[in-house]
Amino acid sequence: MTEKIIEKALKKHNLTLDEVVVLLKENGDELFKAADETRKKFVGDEVHLRGLIEFSNICKSTCKYCGLRSENKEVERYRLTKGEIISIAKNGAEMGYKTIVLQSGEDVFFNADLISEIVREIKKYNVAVTLSIGERSFEDYKKFKDAGADRYLIRIETTDKKLYSELHPKMDFENRLRCLRDLQSLGYETGSGCLVGLPNQTVEMLARDILFFKENNFDMIGIGPFIPHPNTPLKNSKSNMNNFEMSLKVMAIVRLLLPDINIPATTAMETLNPNGRIIALKSGANVVMPNLTTKDYRPKYEIYPNKICINDSPDKCRGCIEAKIKSIGRTISTDFGFRQVF
Ligand code: SAH
Repeated sequence: MTEKIIEKALKKHNLTLDEVVVLLKENGDELFKAADETRKKFVGDEVHLRGLIEFSNICKSTCKYCGLRSENKEVERYRLTKGEIISIAKNGAEMGYKTIVLQSGEDVFFNADLISEIVREIKKYNVAVTLSIGERSFEDYKKFKDAGADRYLIRIETTDKKLYSELHPKMDFENRLRCLRDLQSLGYETGSGCLVGLPNQTVEMLARDILFFKENNFDMIGIGPFIPHPNTPLKNSKSNMNNFEMSLKVMAIVRLLLPDINIPATTAMETLNPNGRIIALKSGANVVMPNLTTKDYRPKYEIYPNKICINDSPDKCRGCIEAKIKSIGRTISTDFGFRQVF
């Protein structure tokens, strides 16, 4: 059953909802092989490294799964200064990163002008800049773009409207969609993605997430296993699936349906499996996002517990992941790693 579906996906890069559901339910070995083959054929053996700066853990939102939610009083909040952010980015560029990713909670202190100034400064280091700072207005997104931002990441988290509203009490699914549409219309390389293993999430919902990514032809898709955080309402949540394995399957199907996009081997995968990122790179992924945040802030950016490398330095992270990538016969890209539409 799965063989025929995989064959179709390899040829047509299209599947029905029912076919995706079958792939999610069955053993993933053949799927992972097919995704790896597709990755090699369309985006090659190069792995793009994106240097991640977690510049503020202050957040006005209350996403029930996230350790940074405003109602979590246990976490010590921090906000890097403009100067600190720019200096970490400079260090990243000097280490060879061709992309700097700026990520934070939904921190309104960083208004459109401040983010734009930071982007303008970082662009001087000849790097691509990705923002991952949540929901903003069209006008803000336009200002960031005019300042030189190249890409934007905003996961839809789940496309199931009911589940979405249960998990995001103060938020609106339609607004999240509006953000994605605005970003695409402004010419950003736009990234989305979902969480896998949320309470009450089913494989059918995940299949619809995958088809949503295909329909919208996003340039990047990040898939992460949900990891319960002890200081959130979902601390005791039990998943009805194997979150690591299921994330890999979702990711591999995304590779088959969107063969030329950028897909990260996510940090959350490595948190659940000590070899998670390498396994992901062999199952369809072609991007890794090593952490550039300095040691003193890393443990505080705790979206989920047991995040990897929280006691490591930026240099160590770069060296460690480079060695792992080379050990599986892949190379580190030296270009910006934009999507080459096939
Ligand atoms: N505030 C930004 C960035 C969010 S943090 C935004 O809204 O886009 C980046 C991602 O971490 C989120 O999109 C979410 O998918 C993931 N995340 C949050 N809590 C998590 C958890 N408990 N387990 C796994 N991933 C989580």
